[in-house]
Amino acid sequence: MSLQSSRGTKDLLPQEAQALVEMIQQASALFILYGYQLLATPHFENSEVFARGIGEATDVVSKEMFNVLSLDATRRLQHGEPLRAEEKMALRPEGTAGVARAVVQHKLALPGTASSKYWYVGSMYRHERPQKGRLREFHQIGVECLGAAEPSADAELIVLLMQYFEVLGIPMDAMTLKINSMGDDNCRPAWRAQVRRFILEHANGLCTQCQQRADTNPLRAFDCKNPDCARLLTQAPQITDMLCDSCLEHYAAVKSLLTAAQLNFVEDPRLVRGLDYYTRTVFEVQVDAGLGAQNAIGGGGRYDKLLEMFGARPTPGLGFAVGLERIKLVLEALGALNVNLPSPQVFVAAVDNESRSSAFMLCVELRRRGLSAEMDHQHRSLRSQIKLADRLGSPYCLIVGPEERAQGRFTLRSLTAHSEQALNLEEIVTVLNTRVSATSGNTAAKQPGGTSSP
Ligand SMILES: [Zn+2]
Ligand SMILES: [Zn+2]
Repeated sequence: MSLQSSRGTKDLLPQEAQALVEMIQQASALFILYGYQLLATPHFENSEVFARGIGEATDVVSKEMFNVLSLDATRRLQHGEPLRAEEKMALRPEGTAGVARAVVQHKLALPGTASSKYWYVGSMYRHERPQKGRLREFHQIGVECLGAAEPSADAELIVLLMQYFEVLGIPMDAMTLKINSMGDDNCRPAWRAQVRRFILEHANGLCTQCQQRADTNPLRAFDCKNPDCARLLTQAPQITDMLCDSCLEHYAAVKSLLTAAQLNFVEDPRLVRGLDYYTRTVFEVQVDAGLGAQNAIGGGGRYDKLLEMFGARPTPGLGFAVGLERIKLVLEALGALNVNLPSPQVFVAAVDNESRSSAFMLCVELRRRGLSAEMDHQHRSLRSQIKLADRLGSPYCLIVGPEERAQGRFTLRSLTAHSEQALNLEEIVTVLNTRVSATSGNTAAKQPGGTSSP
């Protein structure tokens, strides 16, 4: 039996891989306008990084992590020997913890310096039950902004997220931006205590996990996927009724800046991130198209307590993450996924065996001039080579035979206009470049032929 990819993983075939690359390129071009720099952290880290940065009690850390063990450590484990702390590693289940660890390790966000802005992209790994839009290896793009406490930083981050979705092709009116404030050390403990009391009073209407959450982390009950829990928790005490003055002021400033930026938003007092280090602003973007119940395509918030968990001095921070597989599903559902695999700009065809090395050299010369060229490597006949050129979507075929070699002029045949002209190399380059600028690159194959006949 032939081998198959593992459950919950996916090969990205060229069309899908190209879609991913384009989402990354668009992020790269946009994020730079907001001052973000790329930071690439390892795919695996000491497990402690995730325990601290995500929370030991979360499902992600306690149930869904892939541990990474060396063969030697595995053998010793089998013999009942304990592992050293640095031998306990895991594949990253998200991006923020690694960035936070790196920022503290390399002292990238020191007090008194300008805020540090980093973005990341790559595979994340969670051992979940695979379902639509959810894989065990998936791709995320995220940003983290460290050192900024002002509400303008919250608003800037949200504006960036919405602009990114828009650039990707999701219309503003297809998205709902939800925001909330989670309070801070000043006002959250009282709310947390009230939620805990609410859970204990309504225990018989809640799932066992939520009942246990009363003692571990009551706020995580707001994340529960159980519909009964979700319905009951709509009656739970709301943080927005209990915010202290400075949190209220911060929240009001964020909202007024979002309004100034002409972004529509919905305040959702039940939008809660169940991790202790989240403070004040949290947000989530939802779409109706294509995802069913899993309709969140991105979200984030302020986490002023996170860097302290990695041993830094108190450093405000905030960030967001988006799942690229989910965005792709949304774009598909909206009919907005336009991926064109590039076609060669020209196919160089040899008339006979003697002309093959000339064809080869022409390809080399064209590529050195920045043009994409393809040729046959399987001894096809001229007729089959031209057919292949057509199948590859190449708008031109450059024909090389004994006559052409002798004259140094080659026959450039337009496969769309069915015209031919005899040109030298520089003239060919000019014609192909003209076509590129007229049809903007890789959509060339789909445009009608536009060059002159002899
Ligand atoms: Zn529940
Ligand atoms: Zn407060």
